[in-house]
Amino acid sequence: MATGRKAPKGARSRLTALEGTAYHEAGHAVAAFYLRRTGRLRRVTIVPDEKAGTLGHTQHWCTPAYWRKLDEGDWSAPVRLRLEEECIVLLAGGIAEKRATGRYNRVGARSDREKAADLALHACGDDRIASAFLKWLSLRAEGLVNVRWREIEAIAAALLRHKTLKGRSRISEIVDEALGLSRARRGAVAASTRRRLAS
Ligand SMILES: [Zn+2]
Repeated sequence: MATGRKAPKGARSRLTALEGTAYHEAGHAVAAFYLRRTGRLRRVTIVPDEKAGTLGHTQHWCTPAYWRKLDEGDWSAPVRLRLEEECIVLLAGGIAEKRATGRYNRVGARSDREKAADLALHACGDDRIASAFLKWLSLRAEGLVNVRWREIEAIAAALLRHKTLKGRSRISEIVDEALGLSRARRGAVAASTRRRLAS
């Protein structure tokens, strides 16, 4: 399904599982960074959480207030748009990992896909429509991962070095550095990405 640049044969297979996890979490983090309707980006880590059974974690997930709105059937434009962005953030992890390692890690992305599928079903109320909706969101996630690959590589490298990155401002610093941008200019870049993804 990936339309991203294919890795040269053999070149990416040298990546370790930890490096794969770093790209996975970096994919979530960069998507959450640019898609501002999603929950606050608090913490990104590649330290495994044995209790939760996860290899890494990106803390950005929906607030209880948002879930309440969904449960109440609030289908206003902001609620709907946020749901799309939440799904894209969820899907971007596995897609970034695949682009880095050359293979899709089904096990690693399972809980992300399940959460996205839940949200899609919530939005569509019908399996076939939900699956088409998810497919469309996957393509959008793939587009974002491709356009933002430089930032994803920088976040993955920082994760491998520091294991955990805390707060949106830390992510923002790394993104700025990766793009060689001043803060003012970055705002314009983020806005143009949002416009592109919204179209
Ligand atoms: Zn994930």
